[in-house]
Amino acid sequence: MNCIMCENQKNIEDDPYFIMELETGYVILGWFQRFRGYTVFSCKHHGPELHDLEHDYKVKFLEEMTTVAEASFQCVQT
Ligand SMILES: [Zn+2]
Repeated sequence: MNCIMCENQKNIEDDPYFIMELETGYVILGWFQRFRGYTVFSCKHHGPELHDLEHDYKVKFLEEMTTVAEASFQCVQT
């Protein structure tokens, strides 16, 4: 498989923008802060669409995504 996101996850600890690992994905500060606090939550499962994820995993991923979004918001709000 030739996927840059999956390749980046193999050495995620070396990424200077890596923040933390959650159960379903990796939290990475956006390398381009066009929007202050822009953060990526990279899913551990490769796939083109959210609806391709198994139901329980998808629910957990989306729950963690909202947690990441809230944490990012709390960090940058003024
Ligand atoms: Zn991938």
